[in-house]
Parts: sequence; structure tokens; C-alpha cells
Amino acid sequence: MLARPAAGLEGTERGDEAQALLRSCVHCGFCLPACPTYRVTGNELDSPRGRIYLIKQLVEGAAVSATTREHLDRCLTCRACERACPSGVEYGRLIDLGRELVEERVPRTPMQRAMRRGFVEVLSRPRLFAALLRVGQAVRSALPSALQARIPQRPSAAGAVPATRHARRVVLLEGCVQPGLAPGINRAAARVFDRIGIAIERIPGEQCCGALGHHLGHAGRALDQARRNVDACCVALDAGAEAIVSSASACGLMVKDYGRLLATDPAYAARARRVSEAARDVSEIITPSELAHAGLRPGAGPRVAWQAPCTLQHGQRLAGRVETLLQAAGFRLEPPREATLCCGSAGTYSILQPELSQELRRRKIAALTAGAPEVIATGNVGCLEHLRPASPVPVRHWIELVAAALDR
Ligand code: SF4
Ligand code: SF4
Repeated sequence: MLARPAAGLEGTERGDEAQALLRSCVHCGFCLPACPTYRVTGNELDSPRGRIYLIKQLVEGAAVSATTREHLDRCLTCRACERACPSGVEYGRLIDLGRELVEERVPRTPMQRAMRRGFVEVLSRPRLFAALLRVGQAVRSALPSALQARIPQRPSAAGAVPATRHARRVVLLEGCVQPGLAPGINRAAARVFDRIGIAIERIPGEQCCGALGHHLGHAGRALDQARRNVDACCVALDAGAEAIVSSASACGLMVKDYGRLLATDPAYAARARRVSEAARDVSEIITPSELAHAGLRPGAGPRVAWQAPCTLQHGQRLAGRVETLLQAAGFRLEPPREATLCCGSAGTYSILQPELSQELRRRKIAALTAGAPEVIATGNVGCLEHLRPASPVPVRHWIELVAAALDR
């Protein structure tokens, strides 16, 4: 797709990048059936190809409106289209660019801007978020049912964190909302790591990974958070940590992208690349043979339906890893149905686009529960909390299942 950047963009880094990214799209439409929003609305402008046309218009300076922005807002950034595209179009980068341009050309109302800023401020501060969550949980029973469904029950005791006793060490990122919503996930990861001979450490002053700000139009804030994490992670790597690990696949994907996002910052480019190269999803640290060595065997354990987060399978390209580990830990996997379909969580998407999000959740739960599993496993706290209220069976992070199998 040929695009001629408008006067203000022509010859700039952004204009050149947009031109190069757009050029690789050959309009074939193979991506359409993979796109969750196109499957729900049937509108070409809610498909990857339709959005690429809209981004081309933005780049070329053609007339755009709030409708253009709405079609870009409806994209989940799930990147299922990238996996389906035979031409290797880097859609994730294109949509970031398109969103940046549309924010500049079609500003949001003060109310919309305040709401988005509010999400970034509250959700990226773990202590503030946890305090507000506790208040919500305390008054939950007095709230209307629609609101109750949005506030998860207080989690039960999360299990002990083993004392540091191994020479091998990894940084385990805490995340922003996960400590408040599901503190058991990282504790479970710490127990599994301990059983395979790895200690965990925290980094002082950990910030939000920046994904929230990045996707809500606060790119500057996101980059500042990334820089502070790069500083702290480099200290840990210098001191011998093997990897920067995240148990939330959305955060892990963002950290893996630091190198690209800070590539033009001379003070951070090299160190950001180093952190990205050291970033790992929790499933990249554990091997089936280590689980066997720790005493787990494939067998006739509980039946699990695996929900692969988009950030894990499409973003980090780690499809198949968790399934192998769950089987090595003795769980029986349900045959995958609609495995590449987004569950509709996508950060704050479930709040900003509730109709589409709920329809996708309904479809995903139907697919996951078709084989009557005993539990649904996922790899990202956002997906977990989105699916949980609508699921007839428990929804857990997969590492909690493995930790429980080891504890037995
Ligand atoms: S990222 Fe997901 S929702 Fe967005 S266009 Fe691609 S497939 Fe559709
Ligand atoms: S599959 Fe790729 S090349 Fe074809 S329309 Fe979609 S993005 Fe463009």
C-alpha cells in the first residue's frame, strides 16, 4: 500500500516509518477472519485492512473524524492479524502510530482525556490501586450487581514466598494491579522457581511497565516509567540476575519492547536493549525436564482449558510453551477451540469498549468450556480477572496450578 506522507510528516522519522510499514500491506484480506472485532461487527473498518486504510488517510493528511478514532479505538491490539498476514505487516507498530496521529488530529473531549489519565494514574500505582480495591471489596455487597461484577472478591491467603537460598537468581517483576488482585501468582512462581533451584529478587522502585500509558495516549509517561525500570533492572543484571521475568504476559511484552521504544534515546538505547534481551515470560524459565526432576509426571490430573493470552501467543510468540509445561506437570489439556481469539480483556478495553469486550468474553468462555474442563488456565492477570466473573469453572494462572501440583 503506497502512502505519501502529508507535508508535516514527509521526511520525518515518523513519516518514513509509516511509509515503510504501510508499503508491506498488499490488501489481500487474509487477516480479516483472524480479527476479533471484524468477526463481531462485520464492518471492514473494524478489520486490520480497514484500519490500515484509515491509518494511510491519517498519514496522508486526508479528512478524518471521531469515527476514524473510534474504529482505531475498537482495535484490541491483540495482533492476531500479524500472525495471519502472509506479507509480514507489522500491524502492532502501525496501530501505535495511527493512534498517535489520530490523538493529534481529533482530540478527545476534556472528560475523555480526564478519564484516560485517571486510569493511568490509578492503575499504574500499585499501592493506590490496592487501597482503592480494598475499599471497593469492603462495600462490595452494598453495590448494584453490575458494579459488584467489576470488583473481584478479596483473594484468599496467597502462600509463602521461599527464602533466598540459590546461587541462580532472576528478577521477578511485581506489576501494578497484580499484587492487589492476585498476589498468589508471583508467590506461586517463586515456589516453582525455588523447586528448580532459582531464587527471585525484586527491584527497588519498580514502576508500571508503561503498557497502560503507551496504549492510552500517554507515551511520554510510559517512556519515563520504562527508563526507571531500565535503570533498576540494569543494576540487578550487573549484580548477577539471569533474567527479568514477568508472570503477566502483557507486562513482559512491554519490557521486551523497551529496546525498540528507547532506541532513539542515546542515554538509554543500549541499556534498554540489554533489559529487553534479558526479559522472559515465566514460561521461558521453566522446562519440562526440571518439572520432572522436581517430581511431577504427565498423567491423569485435572482437565484444563488453556486460554493463551494474545500478548503471549501473538505478541511474545510463545504459543505452545505453557501447554507443554502443564502436560509435564500432570494436567490433561482440553483440545483447543478458538485458540487465537482474544478474550476481550486488552488492558482497559473491557471498560472503554464494554459491548465488544463482553461479546468476545462470551464467545471465549463458550469455546473454553465446551469440553467441560475443571479449570481454565491463563497467563495474564488481565485476562484472568476479565474471564473469572463469567466463567462457570475457576480461572487460575497456570503457574498457580503447577505450584499446587508441586505442593501436593
Ligand atoms: S490487533 Fe486484533 S483487533 Fe486489532 S486489527 Fe489486529 S486482529 Fe483486529
Ligand atoms: S493480511 Fe497483511 S497484507 Fe493482507 S490485508 Fe491484512 S495486513 Fe494487509
